[in-house]
Amino acid sequence: MLTTLIYRSQLNSSCKSEQLDALIKHARQRNALMNITGIMLFNGLEILQVLEGAEESIVKLFHRIRDDRRHTDVVELMRDYGPRRRFENVGMFLFDLRIESPKAVLESVLRYSKLESYLASEDRVFKFIQSFITQKKTARAASALTADKWTLSKENAPFGERIEGLIANQSCQFALQPIVEPTQGKITSLEALIRGNDGGSPERFFQSIDQNKIYEIDLQTKAYAFALAEKLGIGGHKIAVNLLPMSLVNVPGAVEFLVDQIKRHGLQPEQVVIEVTENEMISGFNQFNSAIKQLRAEGIGLAIDDFGSGYAGLSLLTRFQPDKIKIDREIVSDIHLSGPKQAIVKSIVSCCTDMEISLVAEGIEKLEEWCWLESAGIRRFQGFLFARPQLNGVGDIHWPHII
Ligand code: C2E
Ligand code: MN
Ligand code: MN
Repeated sequence: MLTTLIYRSQLNSSCKSEQLDALIKHARQRNALMNITGIMLFNGLEILQVLEGAEESIVKLFHRIRDDRRHTDVVELMRDYGPRRRFENVGMFLFDLRIESPKAVLESVLRYSKLESYLASEDRVFKFIQSFITQKKTARAASALTADKWTLSKENAPFGERIEGLIANQSCQFALQPIVEPTQGKITSLEALIRGNDGGSPERFFQSIDQNKIYEIDLQTKAYAFALAEKLGIGGHKIAVNLLPMSLVNVPGAVEFLVDQIKRHGLQPEQVVIEVTENEMISGFNQFNSAIKQLRAEGIGLAIDDFGSGYAGLSLLTRFQPDKIKIDREIVSDIHLSGPKQAIVKSIVSCCTDMEISLVAEGIEKLEEWCWLESAGIRRFQGFLFARPQLNGVGDIHWPHII
């Protein structure tokens, strides 16, 4: 299928921009063999390239481009399909913004393409080109942080006495995973993740129990999470627990139960955050809304979990605003490589800043992801990069610091 891919990148400072001509010449030959067409724009620092061709060829070429050390920060902006090529001349044409004015470049790109200008003005590919030429948008986040300048160092399990293995006489166990603020070297809170008595996943645990009692059990098990927090002595730290919204709606006296258990274990309601996922909230919103009010009246915090993975997205926030939003791992994984992901996260950051909702990015596994997100204004993170969940305790934490 005819595929169009656009990426932008930054010419490596060790690669002289004069070498660009050689690069283009080489690309032209290679692309001709693969029947790939397109154009390249260069502004002295950044490259924008449009590639058109058969899907397999484009994907193969893009992998090679990403590994090419002559440029860095290769970010995919668009991948789309279409009935015909915009640039039919097989090879690769360079438009150099150091030589020609933006207006002249824009005109020659249009002339070089086969699209009528009235069609081009509606075309996403041309919009990307136009934005690059006129630099209307600063496409990249001011990337003050670059992953190669950072490394991680280990802090041994920061919480008191360790509980070895399983806790007896419980129907389930909990693993704790810290949410951290790396620039402050601070633990923001601990999330309690349910485990079966064999250490199995939440999914397995919920499959193993009586399906008519899911909500009741979900609610009741939270008492073990609070007990664990008490045993470990989490002090003033916050503890986050996950709940199905229906566990708050269907179980009579659910909020009272939580408040009672929180206090029984020497915690304050203000220390506790309930996490619910976006999808589950939407399906029974009205009922759930009154449970939220009750939670808030008691001082308990509410977080939307896996934000961006469901179908409600930002429109959910017109209905109500939680204290905290956790951005789903799906959106932040490899964010340093994806233009669409970057645009989405930037808009989430901007909305949440205006609404004073605190943000956590979940599932961080790479320094590159953290660097991009930190530069975009996110301060709190959860992920294997910093700390893995640990059964009945808090594991080692890996703090980033400059090399
Ligand atoms: P969640 O609330 O989004 O929890 C985060 C999940 O992501 C955890 O999986 C955690 O181990 C995993 N995770 C954390 N950092 C990383 C990372 O860097 N990379 C990757 N690949 N994964 C990471 P877990 O423990 O299997 O939990 C899965 C889900 O089960 C939770 O997602 C939550 O929605 C649900 N859950 C957990 N405990 C409970 C509970 O007590 N009640 C209810 N109703 N649901 C629960
Ligand atoms: Mn969660
Ligand atoms: Mn989540």
